[in-house]
Amino acid sequence: MLGCHFAAPPWACEIAAAGGEGGPLRAELGARSCRGSVPITLAAMTPGLCLMTVHAHPDDESSKGAGTVALYHRQGIRTVLVCCTGGEAGDVLNPAMDRPDVRGRLPEIRREELAEAARIIGYDEIVSLGYRDSGMPGSSANDRPDCFARAPLDEAVGRLVAAMRRERPHVVVAYPEDQSGYPHPDHIRAHEVAVAAFDACGDPAAFPDAGPPWQPAKLYYTRFSARRVRALHEEFAARRMESPFTDEWLARFPLADPATAVVDISAVAGVPFDALLAHATQVDPQSPFWFGLPRDVLERLHPYDEYVLARPAVAPDDVACDDVEADLFAGLRSPSNIPDA
Ligand SMILES: [Zn+2]
Repeated sequence: MLGCHFAAPPWACEIAAAGGEGGPLRAELGARSCRGSVPITLAAMTPGLCLMTVHAHPDDESSKGAGTVALYHRQGIRTVLVCCTGGEAGDVLNPAMDRPDVRGRLPEIRREELAEAARIIGYDEIVSLGYRDSGMPGSSANDRPDCFARAPLDEAVGRLVAAMRRERPHVVVAYPEDQSGYPHPDHIRAHEVAVAAFDACGDPAAFPDAGPPWQPAKLYYTRFSARRVRALHEEFAARRMESPFTDEWLARFPLADPATAVVDISAVAGVPFDALLAHATQVDPQSPFWFGLPRDVLERLHPYDEYVLARPAVAPDDVACDDVEADLFAGLRSPSNIPDA
């Protein structure tokens, strides 16, 4: 039987310590009790819990936190993907798929790719927010009135609030405020919409037609792992191969940025790569960025998803390993489902 051990690795505590000087979030986390690691096996499934992730485009669900979702799905936790756009403005990024028959039905193909990737990851539900995707700043796609970046904020928030009240997630995962590393207008909008919906969801006066109020307990932001980028970079160097991660890349993701939650995905390390490959029009299997090293090496190097806790609407007192959570549901599981450490 597949076992999942939710123990934050030693370096997670080092990261927290390195980045832990000050800041309201660190102060909040530091005030909590620490009980050490919390081992959880499939025998200790927690039915009734729900995880919702909010992504901008088809393929984002595969490149950000797919291992975490796979892990929780395998524990029996309901997993819901909200995809804000259909990816209509995307190009064909895999040369092998750049054919007239593919370009002619790209929106339909991207829906099929998303369905397959979601199946591989283990999403129980896909909720489409129904917007057309925008392009990068300056793109003509942004002139269309139906693109996500131009959607009235209230309208988009109302749609997401309705989805949250229907699905009743306990944990929501969204993008961080700082999108300077990849300032796509849809990613920035996805952050704004997710945070506003999380805050409005439990308020009966907000969006009264969107269903009965429901307040998710926690909001996490995804985080591009600086540790993983460096591990990959060093592995390329050790093999005397050219690394796609330039100095600019490394500078963009400083190690000192603290993760407040680190999820060990080694038990499902292959899932994100299989899911990425399902997006055949978007992901080139020859890409050095995604697949420049042998698959077993890619799965072995830093198999952790990192997050920053943004909204502790309730303050759980169950945090693993020196403030760094190893489980996004820490503090939310019923005691009978948490074996003694
Ligand atoms: Zn995207």
